[in-house]
Amino acid sequence: MKEPGGDDGGGRGAPPLGDMDAEEFRRHGRALVDWIADYFARVEELPVLARVKPGELIAKLPAAPPDEGEPMSEILADVDKLIVPALTHWSHPSFFAYFATSTSAPGIFAEMLSAAFDVKALLWRAAPAAQELEEVALSWLRQMIGLPENFSGIIYDTASVSTLHALAAARESLNLRVREDGLSGRSDVPPLRVYTSEQAHSSVEKCVLTLGLGQSSLRKIPTDAEFRMDARALARAVAEDRHEGALPFCVVATVGTTSTSSIDPVPEIAEVCERARLWLHVDAAYAGSAAVVPELRHVLAGCERADSLTLNPHKWLFTPFDLSVLYTRRMGELHRAFSLVPEYLRTLEEGRGDVRNHSEYGVQLGRRFRALKLWMVIRYFGRDGLAARIREHCRLARLFSSWVEAAPDWELLAPVPLALVCFRAASAARAGETNEQRDARLDALNEQIMHAVNAGGEAFLSHTKLDGRFTLRLSVGNIRTTERHVARVWQLLRDARARLVSAADGV
Ligand code: PLP
Repeated sequence: MKEPGGDDGGGRGAPPLGDMDAEEFRRHGRALVDWIADYFARVEELPVLARVKPGELIAKLPAAPPDEGEPMSEILADVDKLIVPALTHWSHPSFFAYFATSTSAPGIFAEMLSAAFDVKALLWRAAPAAQELEEVALSWLRQMIGLPENFSGIIYDTASVSTLHALAAARESLNLRVREDGLSGRSDVPPLRVYTSEQAHSSVEKCVLTLGLGQSSLRKIPTDAEFRMDARALARAVAEDRHEGALPFCVVATVGTTSTSSIDPVPEIAEVCERARLWLHVDAAYAGSAAVVPELRHVLAGCERADSLTLNPHKWLFTPFDLSVLYTRRMGELHRAFSLVPEYLRTLEEGRGDVRNHSEYGVQLGRRFRALKLWMVIRYFGRDGLAARIREHCRLARLFSSWVEAAPDWELLAPVPLALVCFRAASAARAGETNEQRDARLDALNEQIMHAVNAGGEAFLSHTKLDGRFTLRLSVGNIRTTERHVARVWQLLRDARARLVSAADGV
């Protein structure tokens, strides 16, 4: 990292006491902001996928900490030399793996400020700005995605944790005295049941594990040909469990599944939940942000009937990791599940209807000032600016999928409702080849294509399995991705296929 004006004046580390002095802070800070601006300008030249081997970075770093402080210029130089080569660059415009996500300039500035303020938002008085800005930013976001006013929100780190809190609140709503007596050794509590689709994110299962409900309490409901939960199968499963003496209490529907971005039929699922009096939680971690685009608002159809919903601005709302939001119509249940205020945290504001201590709504006591970055991102881009970027990502995904559809030797494996394309290199069965043999051949070919493209360093894709078939996934979600990047990865995929096919003499 280049330091204007040489090193930090004598190659010293920290002063004997106290923090870095203001002048030095300014100098390194300016250099760092320049470095970040340069990083964004040159990130495209770096290999997207890290080219290090496991353990390589560890081997390059001292095993023991330094006794004496080191000059900041040397520390920052090591960021260049050691850390950057060991990064997979999520900020690269050709990062198409998993769900491609994106930080942004206002979000980075907010993270700097948040680190400077370093508040622990445990109580309103410990951080009034953090508590109140969270309410304001989440009200703005709620309006932007069209959820009604009776939903209020709270920020957690990740969707896994948001869903965990939703499930805990759902369990609390059963009035089984789980908070007081727990579940172990109780003969008065029937086996509890949670339902989600076979395509739901693994975090739902982890939540069930964490809450001590056991994996057997989770029923995975089959999906239709487009990977959406079958609401009739859900109704049957609930009735069956009731009949067998279990206690169904919660359904987790997904709006934007991880493998394909399929959207469960929330209105039909809500119908089942209302009839059976089950808590409906919607995992809209990925696709919830799409509802900011007026013509995509329909992705959240029926969600106004949900008890809770999670969405991740750190996925597709240009907010740096981490920031997940839980909206619920039943904040009281969340409060009942988690509020515990020891004497040393009692304050004058307690009991005031206009003061909400967020630490009473979750596991954590101290909370980061995450709302700042969401507020700054929304202000900087505006509702229309955010919508324009998400709309463009969807256009790029549709464009890519149109190329796949038009190519005789490639095929789409799932609909493309948003900005994720599931596809593979295809080919007709050869003479004497069964369908299974053909699928095994195509699985191997597609896996090789993916590895070849990823090894090239220009782009990074990931995969899933759909109906047992190896499926390539192209997720458009980075703020820097343009049509040029999407066209280039299409070219890379076709070149890789051509090379592999000719090397194998006609795979
Ligand atoms: N839900 C869905 C649909 C996801 O795609 C993901 C991650 O990709 C998660 C939940 C978990 O997200 P997090 O990393 O915020 O826990």
